[in-house]
Amino acid sequence: MFTNEYLKRVYEQVEQRDGDQPEFLQAVKEVFETLEPVVEKHPEYEKNGVLERIVEPERVVKFRVAWVDDEGKVQVNRGYRVQFNSAIGPYKGGLRFHPTVNEGVIKFLGFEQILKNSLTTLPMGGGKGGSDFNPKGKSDAEVMRFCQAFMTELCRHIGQFTDVPAGDINVGGREIGYLFGQYKRIRDEYSGVLTGKGLEFGGSLARTEATGYGVCYYTQEALRVLRNDSFEGKTVVISGSGNVAIYAAQKAEQLGAKVVTVSDSNGYVYDPNGINVDVVKQIKEVERGRIKEYAERVPGAEYHEGCSGVWTVKCDIALPCATQNEIDEESAKALVANGVQAVVEGANMPSTPEAIAVYQDAGLLYGPAKAANAGGVAVSGLEMSQNSYRLSWTFEEVDAKLKNIMETIVAESLAAAKEYGHEGDLMLGANAAGFVKVANAMVAQGV
Ligand code: GLU
Repeated sequence: MFTNEYLKRVYEQVEQRDGDQPEFLQAVKEVFETLEPVVEKHPEYEKNGVLERIVEPERVVKFRVAWVDDEGKVQVNRGYRVQFNSAIGPYKGGLRFHPTVNEGVIKFLGFEQILKNSLTTLPMGGGKGGSDFNPKGKSDAEVMRFCQAFMTELCRHIGQFTDVPAGDINVGGREIGYLFGQYKRIRDEYSGVLTGKGLEFGGSLARTEATGYGVCYYTQEALRVLRNDSFEGKTVVISGSGNVAIYAAQKAEQLGAKVVTVSDSNGYVYDPNGINVDVVKQIKEVERGRIKEYAERVPGAEYHEGCSGVWTVKCDIALPCATQNEIDEESAKALVANGVQAVVEGANMPSTPEAIAVYQDAGLLYGPAKAANAGGVAVSGLEMSQNSYRLSWTFEEVDAKLKNIMETIVAESLAAAKEYGHEGDLMLGANAAGFVKVANAMVAQGV
């Protein structure tokens, strides 16, 4: 698996220590497998223990979140904040509320965030947090009380110069509002301690759209540079129906493609006439309902039970925007058999290692998550800049900066791929470019 001794030794250490955290091991392995030419060119990384240090979070905070439900019963959840790496800036990364959240999941997300944030070119370290709280079926008041209880503990660990959380799965504008209110109440401080805030209280225009738009800007640029192609006239399959999927669908359509699917954890919708984004927004964001309802409202649309079926729909471009490991080997083979040309990741680590191998064998254009979905955290970084300046940029200004950042990520990934002898490899390039900047900062700052 690893021919390089240093990578092998450190990976074995991680396996020994964190063998019970499969998602974290998967994320580390994927990165390490691409770093061989990098560590061989930079012997100073081994001398300075960079790999040993980068796989160990600087701090892991794990806490009890007790809150009272609408029946007056006390509920207890677990909260996490992994402060993974602060070499290039304050810890930065979202909060995820989902029953599958555990320490290993937050560590995989935090580890990805280190390299992703580095790729944005903005000064942000890597972090991630969340809880096993399931917001599905909870009332608005319950979500508010949970957020307040969560922040009552989290507030002592974060701050505008130390750690700046944002949203992730099931943490959107509503939750950030409740979290921000509680931070302000307890700390008596009005600062940019969270990003993804409402526009009335320090949020940035285009933050809501940023991840999805960014995925499409990245795809458009990679298609242009590597294939002399574009979204124009393409059929696109998108999974998920949250914030990333909705705005990826909107931008892909604006760029001339037809998006034919969206999904949730129960099933997927196929709309041969092109997904109506306004209907998805109404169902998911306003009514907080299930995607099944789309087919009940839009003539010609079909609903299919089971979310992995979405990968059997014929398309030119696939944008997985739901969750980790949503495309396995079988789904990847189905995509290839149906003639897919590009797979670009909106979700974090949506492809299993076996699926990635299928893309590579088929010679697809493969855009890895930490590069392709960096637009969300990039605009979070721009929100921090606006908060520090005490001003706000227009939608057009932020959108232009986002587009520029995504195009730069493609360029820097390709430059690194070339430098390390793997021309055209967007995955190796992203890992190498993101890693080198953090590693150099770690070396410069000493142990
Ligand atoms: N959760 C997003 C991500 O995976 C955004 C994090 C942020 O804005 O800090 O990158």
